Amino acid sequence: MEDVISAYDFSRDQYLEIFSLADEILKGRKIKMKEKIIAEAFFEPSTRTALSFSAAAQRLGMNVIGFSSQEGTSVVKGENLADTIRMMENYSDCIVIRHKFDGAAKFAAEVSSKPVINAGDGKHEHPTQTLVDLYTIFKTFNTIDGLNFGLIGDLRYARTVNSLLRGLTRFKPKSVYLISPPPLKARKEILRELNYEYVELNSPYDVLHDLDVVYVTRIQKERFPDEVEYEKVKESYTIDEKIVNSMRKGSIILHPLPRVNEIDRKIDVSPHAKYFYQASLAVPIRQALFVKILGE
Ligand code: ASP
Repeated sequence: MEDVISAYDFSRDQYLEIFSLADEILKGRKIKMKEKIIAEAFFEPSTRTALSFSAAAQRLGMNVIGFSSQEGTSVVKGENLADTIRMMENYSDCIVIRHKFDGAAKFAAEVSSKPVINAGDGKHEHPTQTLVDLYTIFKTFNTIDGLNFGLIGDLRYARTVNSLLRGLTRFKPKSVYLISPPPLKARKEILRELNYEYVELNSPYDVLHDLDVVYVTRIQKERFPDEVEYEKVKESYTIDEKIVNSMRKGSIILHPLPRVNEIDRKIDVSPHAKYFYQASLAVPIRQALFVKILGE
């Protein structure tokens, strides 16, 4: 395995191998990759992704260099992305990049001879979040096949949704409901690629009792081309007690986080709420990913 740019970069077997390695790591298997250096190029804000990549690298005994915003780098002097990446490949064994432009990670991978991991590029993809999401589902249900999924919220601009929809093509979901206000519907070019059936809905109520996984997303304010469009849809959905009370026993609510106000904080104590557990799995799964990419 080399670059990870899209959720398509993993085969079904590779997903399952990474899950099983993460399980071994959680059970206490020690893997050390002391000589290696990870370079993090974060041109956009991040909490979980950046910290869990760093924590994963450090748990493996690797060193981490990089930056968490372009302020303080030569980009503010006018250095371009290609030159920045060329420097980083000289100083490290693997580059983790987050950028506001769709396609930036692929571009970096073309420039770099070292593996590049996409930690989120614009509204395009966030494949390692999909690893976290699918791993959480796999650990909960012991399968991904045969489950009913409801993706709720901003399906248009959320890169985690694109990656999850693509990652699910490696499995056999029973049904996938795409639930959003009409302006935030999933993009057609993504839907066209899917090898499973999906149903688009404006409201979750008709299907809630059927869902195993309710995947909620934040409205991606920063990706709207126009503030007026954002104002029209902001606060257009909230997962509240009424919704949670209609969910089936054993079903789970996931969210890539950060949550703004699309999940009522009262829900955090519900047995359905698994989003903080999901965030906790970000470290072992990223450890497993580094091992697969860089070798033990
Ligand atoms: N943290 C995720 C991302 O970077 C989800 C979000 O920001 O809403 O895409």
